[in-house]
Amino acid sequence: MAKQTIEDIKDLSGRKVLVRVDFNVPLDDKQQITDDTRIRAALPTIKYLLDKGSKVILVSHLGRPKSGPDDKLRLLPVAGRLSELLGKPVAYVKDSIGPEIEATVAKLKAGEVLLLENVRFYKEEEKNDPAFAKKLASLADVYVNDAFGTAHRAHASTEGVTRYLKGYAGFLMEKEIKFLGQLLENPARPFVAILGGAKVSGKIDVIKNLLPRVDTLIIGGGMSYTFFRARKVSVGNSLVEEDRIPLAKETLKQAIDLDKTIMLPIDHVVADKFDANANSQIVTRAGIPDGWQGMDIGPETITKFGHAIKKAKTIFWNGPMGVFEFDKFSKGTIAIAKLVAEATEGGAVSVIGGGDSVAAVEKAGLAGKMTHISTGGGASLEFVEGKVLPGIACLQDK
Ligand code: AMP
Repeated sequence: MAKQTIEDIKDLSGRKVLVRVDFNVPLDDKQQITDDTRIRAALPTIKYLLDKGSKVILVSHLGRPKSGPDDKLRLLPVAGRLSELLGKPVAYVKDSIGPEIEATVAKLKAGEVLLLENVRFYKEEEKNDPAFAKKLASLADVYVNDAFGTAHRAHASTEGVTRYLKGYAGFLMEKEIKFLGQLLENPARPFVAILGGAKVSGKIDVIKNLLPRVDTLIIGGGMSYTFFRARKVSVGNSLVEEDRIPLAKETLKQAIDLDKTIMLPIDHVVADKFDANANSQIVTRAGIPDGWQGMDIGPETITKFGHAIKKAKTIFWNGPMGVFEFDKFSKGTIAIAKLVAEATEGGAVSVIGGGDSVAAVEKAGLAGKMTHISTGGGASLEFVEGKVLPGIACLQDK
């Protein structure tokens, strides 16, 4: 899976480099950027190329334009923010291909940057249309992909262009491949995976691929109740996927066959309704009474999970331990975030999968303490599922 990176590109000076970045930043209703993390994350790659004297052509998507150009989803505010962060002008044209772009590229000097318009304004992008990919590719001499978050999609700007240009991984992409790859290839042991979130169905392929590789699999959050049902433990009104109970049973059996430990909660914070201010109580092993639903892991579970996390040398975490969006039910998730941060300080490698787990770690104010926080939600899950990501597979092998 080792891929060549921008450091493997010979002679970048004066060459036009098409860089797929992930500038899919949140905007408010005045098109102001509310979080520029994704722009900052791409800076090391952009600065490296500029320092080498390349002509940098950036391409990204933003949001989900339905049909053609949408003024609310233009990349103009991103060009402005990027220019501030780089301390130099960023050229921006309201298109991704065509004569105006070609003319701008022709005038681009070494060390200058051009940001193309939201590439999803062209329906050809998501269709991975070869003619469109060829036009994009024709703007440059070489291609760099630094947008891990879209690497699981075979689009024109993530995969199609590599039929016409050699592709290399940017620094951000390289980091994702390194840390996520390490989980699957040679994790330091003990390796503990912590999976939570709403549903078993969204994580079953992750469980299947990780179970043979981990020493301990911790399961919390909404998905744990389907496993309790598989063990014939009552779960009251908790979230259960009835049709996944057989799969949960099979997973529990597989763990025994493989001699792996699956840890489930031993106590729960339950509520009388799904509400931020619902009445709550803590219930232990015997199961969840009728009329109540599991909303968070309980204090004994935190201690039990903590024992495994403290011993771990590799930790992968995806999915909250409860309904962490409600403060009253966020204690379990925050406690796990603290335990993972402490283990990291003690020398463990911690990798946080994208999406809600990242939001939880940020809510706990512990993002800076983790080894690696993946920038991709769907992409990091697919990677850990062992799937081939088309946006990575198409890059030059080492
Ligand atoms: P996922 O996207 O599958 O990682 O799920 C994340 C969502 O799972 C969050 O919005 C949580 O509120 C939700 N969740 C976690 N635990 C529970 C639970 N016990 N009951 C209902 N939803 C939960």
